[in-house]
Amino acid sequence: MKAVYLDNNATTRVDTAVVEAMLPFFTEQFGNASSIHAFGSSVSGALKSARKQLQELLGAAHDHEIIYTSGGTESDNTAILSALEAQPGRDEIVISRVEHPAVLFLCQHLEKTGRAKVHYIGVDSFGRLDLDAYRAALSDKVAVASIMWANNETGTIFPVEGLADLAKGVGALFHTDAVQAVGKVPVSLKDSSIDMLSLSGHKLHAPKGIGALYVKRGARFKPAVRGGHQERGRRAGTENVPGIVGLGKAAELAVSRLAEEQGRVRELRDRLEKAIVQRVPNCFVNGDPHDRLPNTCNVAFEFVEGEAILLHLNRAGIAASSGSACAAGSMEPSHVLRAMDLNPNALHGAVRFSLSRDNSVEDVDRVIEVLPSIIDKLRALSPFGADADKGAPEFKPQYA
Ligand SMILES: *Cc1c(COP(=O)(O)O)cnc(C)c1O
Repeated sequence: MKAVYLDNNATTRVDTAVVEAMLPFFTEQFGNASSIHAFGSSVSGALKSARKQLQELLGAAHDHEIIYTSGGTESDNTAILSALEAQPGRDEIVISRVEHPAVLFLCQHLEKTGRAKVHYIGVDSFGRLDLDAYRAALSDKVAVASIMWANNETGTIFPVEGLADLAKGVGALFHTDAVQAVGKVPVSLKDSSIDMLSLSGHKLHAPKGIGALYVKRGARFKPAVRGGHQERGRRAGTENVPGIVGLGKAAELAVSRLAEEQGRVRELRDRLEKAIVQRVPNCFVNGDPHDRLPNTCNVAFEFVEGEAILLHLNRAGIAASSGSACAAGSMEPSHVLRAMDLNPNALHGAVRFSLSRDNSVEDVDRVIEVLPSIIDKLRALSPFGADADKGAPEFKPQYA
């Protein structure tokens, strides 16, 4: 039985072309880019080419707006810490309640240690940001507003260009965690008010442990990692050359395959989603029905535990993910789904299927084949199973 991988928002398979591009940089081209000799200069040329490839992917004005980092988490942390340090008179941060832990937990820590006041902006049941609350939180005390481009659990896309303009209006910096957006939706930073953007290699068919932070030319910036002069003094440490070369290749591939994400991958996702909603009673799709990543499908099944569904899917060779995190030994619905104020009957039954260009119709049809009977079986065992047959009292579809 061929394994079906539908957890691409957790990590992606490294593209074969990316691996091939990286290989020489482990062996023949092992030099340190800072060295004067030929071993160094050939490597520094490769770093430069990769920067150009990333510039192209992001539609950035200059290649030196790209700083290589160890991944999405470091980029997110650097952006927020830099914004605070670079603007001593401003000690407030504005984020959404559904940010990735790389933003959320850093901000909670900064708040706890008295280094910043944090405004947590809520979302509605579609996962859309409360724009009035966002506007109200902005002031000349705000160092940075950091709102993700697209949510990793539901795929909901945030109107970051407009949010950046609003932040600019009060003189604050704007950062976006675009780890899930880059390569899936068009990005063009040249004429936008976005000051900083984080991306990660392993969500983009490049390896783990490499990423980038875009910093607009002229934006106030203070490095988080200090040491040597690498990255124009903005991120010290000998460069992860194979990783950077792989990230550059992945960026080039993402540009050439963006139309496929928006076309074939979206069609696969829609095929899966429509079939699930049609065949399984008492389920609904989480996220913004109008503005969502083309690869992400988050479905809540009432009266069942997401983890139980995942175990049964795994037994059938299908890898997906749930909307829960194991907190102190008990399964807690994720902070994202809790912030969305979902139907309580479904809060624990969310499953995320996240596709990529590696997926086929066969993958999707395999899920459609096995999922309805898994849900039936689990509901028959559930104390609420009988209710499910009659129709849930509180059931209100949230997706048309
Ligand atoms: C995966 C992810 C990150 C973290 O990236 P790493 O490279 O794993 O550190 C940050 N933000 C979002 C939205 C993500 O999906």
